[in-house]
Amino acid sequence: MFATLSDRLTATFKNLRGKGRLSEADVAATVREIRTALLEADVALPVVKQFTEAVRERALGAEVSGALNPAQQVVKIVNDELVAVLGGQTRRIQYAKNPPTVIMLAGLQGAGKTTLAGKLALSLRSEGHTPLLVAADLQRPNAVTQLQVVGERAGVPVFAPEKGNQGSDPDATGLGDPVKVSRDGVAEAAARQHDVVIIDTAGRLGIDTVLMQQAADIRTAVQPDEVLFVIDAMIGQDAVNTAHAFLEGVDFTGVVLTKLDGDARGGAALSVATVTGRPIMFASTGEKLEDFEVFHPDRMASRILD
Ligand code: GDP
Repeated sequence: MFATLSDRLTATFKNLRGKGRLSEADVAATVREIRTALLEADVALPVVKQFTEAVRERALGAEVSGALNPAQQVVKIVNDELVAVLGGQTRRIQYAKNPPTVIMLAGLQGAGKTTLAGKLALSLRSEGHTPLLVAADLQRPNAVTQLQVVGERAGVPVFAPEKGNQGSDPDATGLGDPVKVSRDGVAEAAARQHDVVIIDTAGRLGIDTVLMQQAADIRTAVQPDEVLFVIDAMIGQDAVNTAHAFLEGVDFTGVVLTKLDGDARGGAALSVATVTGRPIMFASTGEKLEDFEVFHPDRMASRILD
């Protein structure tokens, strides 16, 4: 991911090497190249505008006599702006004062929510937490089984509705009401001393009003400490619209970028933090449970500019 963006930016910086000072024309040409690189990488237009404006202003005002030569100064400015676009500081999970901490996952079907639930559970377990996974995706018949498989691999128990015990409000899979399952899951966690609950919710391939309302109802019912919006970095320009819809629907507190191991341009996903004002907290980089990392904006920026 980001290989093209990385190559294009590096090529831009090369053109500046050996220059004693940057003329206004040099800065204008550089900013134009950065703009093209960002647009080609699918970075959202408002983010491109904000980014290039900041680079232009800072490059024009850069001190000539500093320790860095002009080319190095531009690299530093672009690095700083990339870190800012990616959310600035690393943002960790905010744990509840009174456990369990409730983390709800939301996103489109196929975004990688169920896989992410397992990754997060495994990572939390390795840090000494005692998570419980809750299967509230009752839309796809095999989603519960998939979470159980993931939970088993992560060594983390899964709270799931029993088949045939649906109460009075069966849904499409006959597994019951996802809001009730979520609420019961949190109660189960409290009763069994799990300090974190991770709720996997349903999504469709596109924005879906009914499922968005269901996610909003779960949010209202369990009052999560974190709502993580899980987004496939491969979906390109749709990323920004999808993020807006979920921000409105469930008011997420953080973003998880998945499939960063893919070869898509990725810029749209990079725009999500800026256009929603919510930090990217984790990244998923493969199908295995270990392919998971805390998202550090500064490290990602360095990786792109490497
Ligand atoms: P959900 O519908 O949002 O629960 O998505 P799933 O967790 O079922 O994931 C959908 C597909 O994407 C599965 O085949 C996963 O193995 C795959 N997947 C999830 N995360 C990643 C990732 O970071 N990289 C890659 N390459 N595949 C992933």
